[in-house]
Amino acid sequence: MRILITNDDGIHAPGLAVLEEIAREFSDDIWVCAPSEEQSGAGHSLTLTRPVRLQKYDERRFAVTGTPTDSVMMALREVMDAPPDLVLSGVNRGANLGDDITYSGTVSAAIEGALAGIRAIALSQVYAREGMADSVPFEAAKAWGAKVIKPLLDAPFSERTLVNVNFPPLGADGVRGIRVVRQGFHDYSRGSVVEGRDPRGYRYFWFGLHAIEHTLDHGTDLEAIADGFISVTPLQLDLTHHESLTSLSQRFES
Ligand code: MN
Repeated sequence: MRILITNDDGIHAPGLAVLEEIAREFSDDIWVCAPSEEQSGAGHSLTLTRPVRLQKYDERRFAVTGTPTDSVMMALREVMDAPPDLVLSGVNRGANLGDDITYSGTVSAAIEGALAGIRAIALSQVYAREGMADSVPFEAAKAWGAKVIKPLLDAPFSERTLVNVNFPPLGADGVRGIRVVRQGFHDYSRGSVVEGRDPRGYRYFWFGLHAIEHTLDHGTDLEAIADGFISVTPLQLDLTHHESLTSLSQRFES
């Protein structure tokens, strides 16, 4: 099995090494193609207004000076001589739960795999917020990564679907199990914009992610993580709200 590994935290991120270790439990044919720098929050963006450079570390390890989507495109179209059987994206430093998904470069890299018709899984390690971003413990992901991926390797994936996995902020022994759940809802409307002055005296703004209200609806990824479970959520790329098709079309009938 040929596996492509990517992320949005960049080629040097510790979570990428964690994911590579997990992937090696399934295959020796591992290819890495990831952004050269952190691209968290890049979503499904594609670089169109400047060139993208490819940096080669060895025969199967590459960095791209662009987004996670750029990285997967480069891997599939330029770097790899044959397509992978599996795209793994992560392990992200931080949650990709609820409405994080559309902002997420981690999930979007997996989306790019799914668009190419390849089985794709995004993986993220949730961490307790305060001052930990530089030393996120990946213990839950390390201990449970292969256990979560294995059943997904031969599970039926419909076209244009992928799977989003989040590990709770717990040690290996603290994880209570795995739940297959739907996408929950994060209220980002209360996320803060922090204002400050740079060293030269110019005003800046910085998006803060704290003070977010979580609506822990039953059966959601957010609830699973809060309960100490690993969340597994199948996602689809068809964003159509099918229930509204009829009522909306009636509005245009004269
Ligand atoms: Mn990230």
